[in-house]
Amino acid sequence: MDFRNTEPAQSDTDPADPPFSPLRLGTWPTPLEPAPRLATALGLRAEDLWIKRDDLTGLAGGGNKIRKLEWTVAGALAKGAGTLVTTGAAQSNHARLTAAAGARLGLDVVLVLPGEPPAAASGNLLLDSLLGARLVWAGDVDGEGLETRARETAEELRQAGAAPAVIPFGGSSVLGARGYREAGQELLEQCPGVRHIVVALGSGGTMAGLVAAAGARQVLGVDTGARREAVAAVHEYASALTQGALAVEELRVRGDQIGAGYGTLTPQTADALSLAARCEGVVLDPVYTGRALAGLRAAVRDGDIRPGETTVLVHTGGLPGFFGHSGIQALLG
Ligand SMILES: *Cc1c(COP(=O)(O)O)cnc(C)c1O
Repeated sequence: MDFRNTEPAQSDTDPADPPFSPLRLGTWPTPLEPAPRLATALGLRAEDLWIKRDDLTGLAGGGNKIRKLEWTVAGALAKGAGTLVTTGAAQSNHARLTAAAGARLGLDVVLVLPGEPPAAASGNLLLDSLLGARLVWAGDVDGEGLETRARETAEELRQAGAAPAVIPFGGSSVLGARGYREAGQELLEQCPGVRHIVVALGSGGTMAGLVAAAGARQVLGVDTGARREAVAAVHEYASALTQGALAVEELRVRGDQIGAGYGTLTPQTADALSLAARCEGVVLDPVYTGRALAGLRAAVRDGDIRPGETTVLVHTGGLPGFFGHSGIQALLG
């Protein structure tokens, strides 16, 4: 399955001044924890490294998508929606948390996923069903085909009398990125001297919001290969949120951790998962946060991040994806 031809979503409302407030679905602020043993293992000083625990956001397994849903679902409700429709990979954390948000708010949720129903559900898929979402399997489609299927599903629901709203791929839009601008502000209050904020880059809203809060120089995105034009998406959302001149060249993105593609477990990521678990008792995931740590490790090796520079790794969640990943058994050797 290849999502890389998913174009950046259009901004769905005036980002400068949306006429509604965000919902509160998560537990804020999330903790910022020191990671001294991981720091020294990476070649940093013990006091240099912190982990922003955005895996501990509260709702249904947690993760970064809640902050974006607080805005995108508020936007959907403002338009009178009663049903949320969204897309993602079969093991999408965003789809699972959309299901959870819908449950919390008493909304119907329809998840349009690529491929065919698996013989046995695991990880996020298991939670999607538990949370009461309806799954629509779109068969063999690319990213664009999946978006089309989501729009068709919404149209079918509308004709059946429902009031659907399509939440964009990964929850990323100018509106969704506002949630991560807030997260960036929260992080700057917790760690005023931060020099590097390292985060996995998927659909782009998370990195964009952090850039809007902290500036492009402070944020290092590690591309996971989730979407083609990921950097353009970050640029679009961050520019809209800052109403300023942000050149795309200013964005710091590493493309060296994609390996054989989105969702594959790379050797560097497998090493990073072991390292975080054994140094700090922190479980990262094979698709996003493990790649972020692998990218951080590579950045220390090539001198982009140096000892003495305060660095925050954003733990964006993904634990259910760990249990849903078919290659994870390889970690046990
Ligand atoms: C979606 C996701 C990301 C990437 O966030 P984007 O806003 O899509 O770039 C990172 N980590 C986890 C665990 C995710 O589920």
